[in-house]
Amino acid sequence: MRIGQGFDSHQWDENGSAPLILGGIEFDSGNSLKGHSDGDVIIHACIDSLLGAAGLGDIGILFPDSDLAYENIDSVKLLEIVVSKLHAEKWEIVNVDCSVVTEEPKISSKKLEIERKLSKVLDAPFSVKGKTPEGIDSLNGIMCIAVSLIEERYE
Ligand SMILES: [Zn+2]
Repeated sequence: MRIGQGFDSHQWDENGSAPLILGGIEFDSGNSLKGHSDGDVIIHACIDSLLGAAGLGDIGILFPDSDLAYENIDSVKLLEIVVSKLHAEKWEIVNVDCSVVTEEPKISSKKLEIERKLSKVLDAPFSVKGKTPEGIDSLNGIMCIAVSLIEERYE
């Protein structure tokens, strides 16, 4: 078994009109996040934790900002690519857990939807918790920390 940890953060986009997408689910929010892709911090942290666990590099190596193919891409697609990479290397995902730090929106309002969606993509339990920054009001965006456990598949 191996464990991996991932972190991601995206800044609020003052003039952004893109929808706010977290964990592959759209939130009704007046704000959106800056990013080359859809700025989905939950999926990006999740991807880095999986790649870290499997020793397969990181999200920046796999999906470089300079590559136009990944511009505005749905991050769920990136996660699907990473899951197939792990499976190809004979890794099974045991579970992924993450914490999202943000004042708004409230993650709890869509927690089950996110968990259902990403558990399906990962083919493993996925859990997400929302945390407020508790008065650290200089946080100008959303952060996410993820941990993944994977195990070798024996055939
Ligand atoms: Zn990101």
